Amino acid sequence: MNERAAQMAAQLSERELDAILISTPENRRYLSGFTGSSGYLLVTPQRQILFTDSRYTEQAGNQSPHFEVIQMKAGLGWLLDALKETGARRVGFESDNMTVASYNRALDAIKEDGDLSGTSLIATSGITDELRVFKDKEELAQLQKAIDASDRAMEMVCPTIEAGMTEKEVAWRMEVAMREFGTDNISFDTIVATGPNGAMAHHRPGDRVIQTGEPIVIDMGAQVDGYCSDITRTVVVGEPDEMFHKIYNIVLGAQLTAIHTVRPGLTGEECDALSRDVISEAGYGDNFGHSLGHGVGLAVHENPRVGPRADNVLERDMVFTVEPGIYLTGWGGVRIEDIVILGEDGATVLSKAGK
Ligand code: ZN
Ligand code: ZN
Repeated sequence: MNERAAQMAAQLSERELDAILISTPENRRYLSGFTGSSGYLLVTPQRQILFTDSRYTEQAGNQSPHFEVIQMKAGLGWLLDALKETGARRVGFESDNMTVASYNRALDAIKEDGDLSGTSLIATSGITDELRVFKDKEELAQLQKAIDASDRAMEMVCPTIEAGMTEKEVAWRMEVAMREFGTDNISFDTIVATGPNGAMAHHRPGDRVIQTGEPIVIDMGAQVDGYCSDITRTVVVGEPDEMFHKIYNIVLGAQLTAIHTVRPGLTGEECDALSRDVISEAGYGDNFGHSLGHGVGLAVHENPRVGPRADNVLERDMVFTVEPGIYLTGWGGVRIEDIVILGEDGATVLSKAGK
């Protein structure tokens, strides 16, 4: 059994489950190493089974040596057979991922099977996610490759942005550069928001033409070996005006305050407040509408939560973003985002692109 499956097995006994059916792609990959786009895991304390279809059985055998690979066929016979073989009665499923239709199909099939009387499907939430919040050395190395690709793209492309270019052109240049610097994929749709569009935190790049002196918010990420990066920089073509200096420095101060002050033991809400208080004291509290950050790893948004009402405790080896922003309708926005890892003495910033 690999270490991650062993951790899962320990979680099962804590929850009095005999098995768990994993359907979330990132969790499937995390626990088994299998990167294919289709499949399920059934993890019990004794057996680790990976079900996938004929397109992937060979790949699954190579990538997941600790799992028995079973080829899925049409229908749910593969699941029913495995439940009979393992004798699992209390079977967890991922309620954040499994559709109601899939759940109902599985439940009906179990009910109709005379050999499975007494078997129940039990909703679980966040078990693998709680394992994924702590990043090991191998994960950090993969994450750093993704971070480096987006850092280098940001540093290379930003100085080439000129008045007259469109948001879409800048987004495309960034994506090409990330590819050239080794990314497998982009981790989410690149955001380039110029001038007033920057007031919308998640604006989609369009045909708006960049003008001298206005803020340009660029938020993007690379993905290497499944691990996602996420970085935001706000830049200006030409000379920034006084307003930009003022807003930028408040946001930067808010970001650095959180980065320098956060420690293990603070909750996500307390970490969020480190930045939010700086912005509120400057009079812009109402213009910072989103959470300070989020965990990042195999998914671009994952645990830990870092925002108002996030009562989860931040601990060593957790990786998350710190991304305060100020958004002013009609003017635009400033957001600055970096990924940090929390150590015993505080946060270390993993992204290196200049601010
Ligand atoms: Zn971002
Ligand atoms: Zn982010």
